[in-house]
Amino acid sequence: MAGILSAARSRAAGTGLKVTAVRQIHSSHDVAVVGGGIVGLATARELILRHPALSFVLLEKEKELALHQSGHNSGVVHSGIYYTPGSLKARLCVRGATLAYDFCDKKGIPYKKCGKLIVAVEQEEVPRMRALYERGLQNNVRDLRIIDAKGIREREPYCRGIAALDSPHTGIVDWRKVALRFGKDFEEAGGAVLTEFEVNNISVASESPAGSSEGMKHPIAVRDAQGSEVRCRYVLTCGGLHSDRLSQISGCSREPRIVPFRGDYLVLKPEKRYLVKGNIYPIPDPRFPFLGVHFTPRMDGSVWLGPNAVLAFKREGYNVYDFSAQDFADALSFRGLQKLVLKNVAYGLGEMYRGVFTGAQVKILQKYIPELQQSDVLRGPAGVRAQALDRHGNLVDDFVFDGGVGEVGSRVLHVRNAPSPAATSSLAIAEMIADEAESRFSL
Ligand SMILES: Cc1cc2nc3c(=O)[nH]c(=O)nc-3n(C[C@H](O)[C@H](O)[C@H](O)COP(=O)(O)OP(=O)(O)OC[C@H]3O[C@@H](n4cnc5c(N)ncnc54)[C@H](O)[C@@H]3O)c2cc1C
Repeated sequence: MAGILSAARSRAAGTGLKVTAVRQIHSSHDVAVVGGGIVGLATARELILRHPALSFVLLEKEKELALHQSGHNSGVVHSGIYYTPGSLKARLCVRGATLAYDFCDKKGIPYKKCGKLIVAVEQEEVPRMRALYERGLQNNVRDLRIIDAKGIREREPYCRGIAALDSPHTGIVDWRKVALRFGKDFEEAGGAVLTEFEVNNISVASESPAGSSEGMKHPIAVRDAQGSEVRCRYVLTCGGLHSDRLSQISGCSREPRIVPFRGDYLVLKPEKRYLVKGNIYPIPDPRFPFLGVHFTPRMDGSVWLGPNAVLAFKREGYNVYDFSAQDFADALSFRGLQKLVLKNVAYGLGEMYRGVFTGAQVKILQKYIPELQQSDVLRGPAGVRAQALDRHGNLVDDFVFDGGVGEVGSRVLHVRNAPSPAATSSLAIAEMIADEAESRFSL
């Protein structure tokens, strides 16, 4: 590794990872990966394992890794039922789930294959459930079957439904734990992790680093507002909720834009956890991108219900009252969001109402577990989804890579949209991004 790391290495609280607390860093590497969520970490790991002779650095703006989407999600290992057969999403989810289970086995990360029922409670949902079953089969989801009302009760004694799709290989895991282990592998392979490095500029460097005799071996400068600078040959960004802004600072288009959708969870009181054994999901409404409120057991024994989906007033705003003037103005002034809101006014208001009044959310959940009462639940945590949107108000459902033009463009790869379930798919996504980086950068 060329250059000087000006800060001492230290251990970040709670993560077990050695990271460098950043105070005016100046260093040089072959490749910089921006974004220490599960996608950036899996990608950095994949690249360093493929190219051990190159030097890598991962830059993360927070004090700790995987604090945002990768640390605020339902914790489900999806099996790949929902996605259009042949699509990247379908292939990456099915492969990603297998890779994730293997990874957890190898690294001793606990998970539970507690299964999942996708339950039809109305007759009109049965054809959609059957269509999902066909999709799942086409996507090579293993051991899927349709069960009747009696079968539902055998699996979930408190759940009522006409029929259900039973997916026994769906599981649960702590995705943050998985992400941190990706980071540990990356470090053990020689990668450097710099936290509190909020990238705000990516450009062609005008000169070699001060005191350096390396010439322009590392022509790209990645900077933060504190005056730190990492020089590199190539940059890859996996910025989650900020992926559009990271793209824009290197000269790419602002679109697709990221619009933050907060999802609030309710939590079952401990004495009511017996009501839920595995994952219980609704038949999704095809008009919306989210899977609908569901019952999800967690690795710590708790049970989460939700999440809903409401427009957040702040990217990374986990509380109802979190507000950022910049994020709010950005979202409201975007034609794509205006169009989306106009198309879905009733749905949006309904989600907001159910976010405020837990009784309304519980009413929906009672369709699946009639015994559930409002007094059985407490308000729980929240997550914020990075939803990519085009200017026509369409939700972008596929992966979007971007580079831009000129010298920066040939050396930068932005992952602008890594759609859910990107935690489940992370190891497969990492393979795909690494392939893309290899072909663009001739690594
Ligand atoms: C409510 C919710 C429930 C979900 N449930 C599931 C589930 O059950 N199963 C599943 O598989 N998936 C689930 N997902 C999806 C999954 O969590 C995400 O797709 C995945 O975590 C995305 O990872 P990421 O690395 O792209 O983003 P993130 O985890 O958000 O990471 C991006 C990182 O980039 C950093 N960053 C941003 N800008 C900068 C900058 N300028 N400089 C430096 N660093 C920067 C951020 O701080 C962050 O750490 C869920 C998501 C949500 C929100």
